[in-house]
Amino acid sequence: FPPERIRNFSIIAHIDHGKSTLADRLLEITGTIRKDRTNKQVLDKLKVERERGITVKAQTVSMFHTYKGEQYLLNLIDTPGHVDFSYEVSRSLSACQGALLLVDASQGIQAQTVANFYLAFGQDLEIVPILNKVDLPAADPDRIARQIETAFELPTDNILKISAKTGLGCDAILDRVIEAIPPPTKGDTTTPLRALLFDSWYDTYLGVICLFSVLDGRLKKGDKVLSCHSDRKYDVLDVGIMHPEQRSTGVLFPGQVGYAILGMKSTSEAHIGDTFYLLGNKVEALPGFQPAKPMVFSGVFPVSADEFPKLNDSISKLAINDASVTVAKETSSSLGQGFRLGFLGTLHMDVFRQRLEQEYEANVICTAPTVPFKVTYKDGTVHHIRNPAEFPEGPMLTKVDNVEEPTINATILTPDVYLGPILELCNSRRGQETELTYIDDTRVMIKYILPMTEVVTDFYDRLKSISSGFASFDYEEAGYVDADLVKLNVLLNSKPVDALASIQHRSSAEMTARQTVAKLKDVLDRQLYEIVIQCAVGGKIMARETLAAMRKNVTAKCYGGDVTRKLKLLEKQKKGKARMKMVGNVEISQEAFLTMMKK
Ligand code: GDP
Ligand code: MG
Repeated sequence: FPPERIRNFSIIAHIDHGKSTLADRLLEITGTIRKDRTNKQVLDKLKVERERGITVKAQTVSMFHTYKGEQYLLNLIDTPGHVDFSYEVSRSLSACQGALLLVDASQGIQAQTVANFYLAFGQDLEIVPILNKVDLPAADPDRIARQIETAFELPTDNILKISAKTGLGCDAILDRVIEAIPPPTKGDTTTPLRALLFDSWYDTYLGVICLFSVLDGRLKKGDKVLSCHSDRKYDVLDVGIMHPEQRSTGVLFPGQVGYAILGMKSTSEAHIGDTFYLLGNKVEALPGFQPAKPMVFSGVFPVSADEFPKLNDSISKLAINDASVTVAKETSSSLGQGFRLGFLGTLHMDVFRQRLEQEYEANVICTAPTVPFKVTYKDGTVHHIRNPAEFPEGPMLTKVDNVEEPTINATILTPDVYLGPILELCNSRRGQETELTYIDDTRVMIKYILPMTEVVTDFYDRLKSISSGFASFDYEEAGYVDADLVKLNVLLNSKPVDALASIQHRSSAEMTARQTVAKLKDVLDRQLYEIVIQCAVGGKIMARETLAAMRKNVTAKCYGGDVTRKLKLLEKQKKGKARMKMVGNVEISQEAFLTMMKK
């Protein structure tokens, strides 16, 4: 295929606006997959993706389409559908020249529509707006078309109106892709190979599979290629296109995207954004990608200590296919041996945790999420705090020069009836409004700068609940700013519970302290002695509750007689004890921990 007859494009959309459905439809129209097959949604391969309806790992599929008598090669490069994965989105987009901006014609523009639009726009992609779900009775294509004009300044005179579900209008999309999206720049087959590695995954049978976008030269089976990043040499064992699974073609030409198997042992060798060249023909590396930075950290511990090896095994298996998760061992005095994992965002964290539970049956306790605070000491050293335990306190404080926290640029779209409570929520989270635009008579787009730490716990849930589910939210990182932060310790009979410590803005420390002690009083079991529950910043007690002593004797319920029943109950009590964690002389049940960790 000459580059003029290749199109590389992706579909960008807010979650649930029909991206996967449309991808399936396009694959059916082009005969890439059969209509009657049972495994719906080829692009969403992971179980968790199907269940949660979001794409986590980008996928790529090639299809053929005849236009004005000529056959074209269309490469659909999928993008993950969520803000946490914007790094994956941008790397998928880097292999494209255009994007279909899919908008639900009843819901209209949502936060991720805006975020994804700007990502694509920033990469100079040709953007083709499409209105989906026009079959719905509530669809209002004209109103949504006006939203698109207002928000993105895109012309909508001959906008495609489709139903990905029924197939209505979908035939016209492929022609539009060919007409509107430019072909990849005319590479040169005679110049040396220059290929961009933009994705990789681990296949149990084939090993590491890499996705390449070939800019110059050819990538051929049997070639010896080198990585600019590592200088390592590889044999090209196989190369081809995704149609929809790997189909060997022996060679990839300029402008093409496809897979190659280089015999890598692990995906960590596949450095995303790396440039590959032919042995003896070194080329200049293409500008790489900013590596994904974990922005949310959580401690993960086995529910019972003897499950640590199993948890270790499960985490390694999951991390092998997700290079954006960082893994470090951690020991907590209250929860024992575990891990500190770093994620791109809270959804990434939830997805990982769910996969851990589903695919590997790991029973885990996760501590409340922490964002990476930056502490600069007077001697010039900078420390990124990933765990409240590492936050300086006491005498250490005299050595601290300043503390900074990460911020985000948040985009919220909402019907204007919820505007008041939403602004109130953002302001109560130390937010700063930067923009407020009506995109039609009743819908508002709001932009705020917010401290990330105020968003990672319950912000999204609160937003959803005060807007009856109608507001959508997305964000991008906005750098670090100075912040007055303190470490809030939780003490039980004067002993700190490390797993419950948190980092708070000074202004909210007291309120959090009061809520925490009240909640703890509620979830802790009474014990043989009184328990003093306290929250403290440094030596200063911010809140205090007392849980009175009570003799807990379950056998008191059996009036003498029944010995076997008595024994059974004692046995049960012993078992319960095994699931207890000790902090000083206070027992904390698993359930109490789980409740405290919840948002
Ligand atoms: P994604 O999150 O963007 O990948 O969205 P999906 O393709 O998973 O679609 C989300 C939901 O919308 C599914 O229940 C689809 O069946 C439904 N859907 C997608 N396209 C249409 C459409 O054109 N009309 C109607 N009525 N429903 C659609
Ligand atoms: Mg999907």
